[in-house]
Amino acid sequence: LNQVSKIYKSGDKSLTVLDNINFSVEAGATVSIVGPSGSGKTTLLGLCAGLDRSTSGTVALHGTTLNGLNEDQLAAVRNQYVGFIFQNFQLLPTLTALENVMVPLELRGERNVKPRALDLLDKVGLSARSHHYPTQLSGGEQQRVSLARAFSNQPRILFADEPTGNLDAETSEKVVKLLFDLNKEAGTTLVVVTHDLELAAKTQRIIRIKGGKLV
Ligand code: ATP
Repeated sequence: LNQVSKIYKSGDKSLTVLDNINFSVEAGATVSIVGPSGSGKTTLLGLCAGLDRSTSGTVALHGTTLNGLNEDQLAAVRNQYVGFIFQNFQLLPTLTALENVMVPLELRGERNVKPRALDLLDKVGLSARSHHYPTQLSGGEQQRVSLARAFSNQPRILFADEPTGNLDAETSEKVVKLLFDLNKEAGTTLVVVTHDLELAAKTQRIIRIKGGKLV
């Protein structure tokens, strides 16, 4: 990110959420982003992942500058490189757990994706729940489906927004292990927003944000 700012405008009011942010993350690194509630962490993650656009400054992902891209080009970059775990899971409610995990694979034009999706659900300990719909799953189970979905396109970089926020201690430990295993085994870059300082301490670097600035 190079001199990135994000300003939300409504009527004649404007709110500067991110103020001239500069940082880079090396491929294969693990980084956490911490800071008070409302400090702009989710906004920052969304910009890094190409889910949102900065008001000014430039964002580059794997050598591609995102600013000039149209929506289709942006989606193509995301499909190719990015996995994202949302704070509120964002599973598609009309699809089963299995179908939710199959979606990114199908979007990439892959065929016969079911065995791979089942394998991913097995990895997060949910094979027995594969035909359940999101409303039939607990919060922690939905979180793990969201994890399996984020892993499915073998992302080069995984952005996770509060990946342990809704989990009990034991499930949280499993999820953290999955994230770091992915980093170790596949070299996936890990960028995690978290209030969990124990999780943050496991990453190589902690970025602290306060009042829209990196501190
Ligand atoms: P938390 O730890 O509570 O999840 P956060 O650090 O992730 O907070 P953000 O979600 O990035 O914070 O929000 C930063 C600020 O931007 C907040 O004041 C929020 O109200 C505001 N904000 C976020 N999205 C929008 C939007 N679409 N329009 C206007 N304001 C927004």
